[in-house]
Amino acid sequence: MRFEKAISKYQPTIGIEVHVELDTLTKIFCPAKIDFDAEPNLAISPVSLGLPGALPVVNEKVIEYACKIGLALNAKIAEKCIFARKNYFYPDLTKNFQTSQSDEPIVYDGNIEVSLSNGKTYKIGIERAHMEEDAGKNTHVGGASGRIQGAKYSLVDYNRAGVPLVEIVSRPFSYEGEIMPQLAAAYVRSLRDIFKALGVSKAQMEKGNVRADINVSLSPIDSHECGVITTGFEKLGTRTETKNVNSFRSITNAVRFEIERQADILEAGEEVLQETRHWHENTASTSSGRPKSDSDDYRYFPEPNLVPIILTKEYVENLRANLPELPAKKNARLKLEWNLADKEFNDILNANALSLIEQTVLAGCSPDSARKWWMGELSRIAKEKNTDLEDLPITATQIAQIQKKIEDKQITDKIARQVLTAVLAGEGEVDSIIDKQGLATVSDDNALEDAIKEAIERNPDVAQKLSSGNMAPIGVLIGTVMKITRGQADAGKVRQMIMAKFKS
Ligand code: MN
Repeated sequence: MRFEKAISKYQPTIGIEVHVELDTLTKIFCPAKIDFDAEPNLAISPVSLGLPGALPVVNEKVIEYACKIGLALNAKIAEKCIFARKNYFYPDLTKNFQTSQSDEPIVYDGNIEVSLSNGKTYKIGIERAHMEEDAGKNTHVGGASGRIQGAKYSLVDYNRAGVPLVEIVSRPFSYEGEIMPQLAAAYVRSLRDIFKALGVSKAQMEKGNVRADINVSLSPIDSHECGVITTGFEKLGTRTETKNVNSFRSITNAVRFEIERQADILEAGEEVLQETRHWHENTASTSSGRPKSDSDDYRYFPEPNLVPIILTKEYVENLRANLPELPAKKNARLKLEWNLADKEFNDILNANALSLIEQTVLAGCSPDSARKWWMGELSRIAKEKNTDLEDLPITATQIAQIQKKIEDKQITDKIARQVLTAVLAGEGEVDSIIDKQGLATVSDDNALEDAIKEAIERNPDVAQKLSSGNMAPIGVLIGTVMKITRGQADAGKVRQMIMAKFKS
């Protein structure tokens, strides 16, 4: 069923769980270094291998970072919280349990506001955030697309085991159907921006530092209250959970796909299965994972090897007082400084271009020019390549350099695009590309004189008119000079030189 029809009949409700990998030097329960470039199974310790008798100790930095996240989410910080064992068997989990938190998480009851391009702001409730360890990584070899099905053998790497995570669980939310796919992505983007601002994570989506599990359900229109949902869960439809979606584009597409798919099932009078689903970027669709009941029995119990964490008011208030400027506030400031209308600013947010433009400005570019590059030419190229702006192989500094070259009249607008293409193609740095390919503006008067002479020879009729004082066709000569200099002449200067020539 088409999306528009689906949302005219059904109200989507979404809940999102986000895992963020914390950027600490060492793991959550042991002094093993976090090193994603290390050879497999070298960034480990007895604790991250779960060897018998190895005892965990909590990394203080993890507690600090979790608190900062909680404060930025306008949430409450628990005076006391404990770790718990979440029991399940999986080869990348040596202990057969994950050390996590259950009914006593460190952070609970928060909310953030998320703005969309329609100019509206939506409140998303935060139910809780807890600390936990990441598992190791299984690599299945010999099967199709890295899945275990059909694999000849599997390899396990424990370097990631014990990397600290904070899991943020939203409350379910229900707003206008047409904005739900965007809102889901905008919420995760807001969290990502907060992690970055706090400096608690590298927060690179494409590297999997931030991973989102997206729960989607449909219910008949008007069957329950909309907004942040805190009661009346029984009126919600059966949900599916699409796991580990890690780009904003994929989040939008996965939500759209699930809404259309579930609407088809409900229209046919059938029931949506409660299950996890996998997102496939190549086919822009989800496929069935494993069935999931509401009360998967993980037999949680308090971790006996870790003492409860007691946080004093003083500790928390000290962190609160030293929080950096958060994205919501920063956005308001930049919008004012850059003198932009709501729509222009929201377009930037939606294009995920804010920090790119900000960095370009910090690298010396004017806000106007920085915005033009990222929202114009670069957005067009990103769209063509079907990639996110920030994944384009070009930096804010390089854009600022190119813009400066234009302003210093070292290259023309047209050549700037050529330089941009070369940088994107990995041909080197801005300066070396201009040097090597001889793209610098021809400002040498002799060279320009030669080009103008040649242009006159090619257009005797035009030269005739200019001589008789009719300057109307001057553009033809300028155009010819540009052609002769392969676009590298400063058109303004060429005009002046031609004018001077024919005036006398
Ligand atoms: Mn988790």
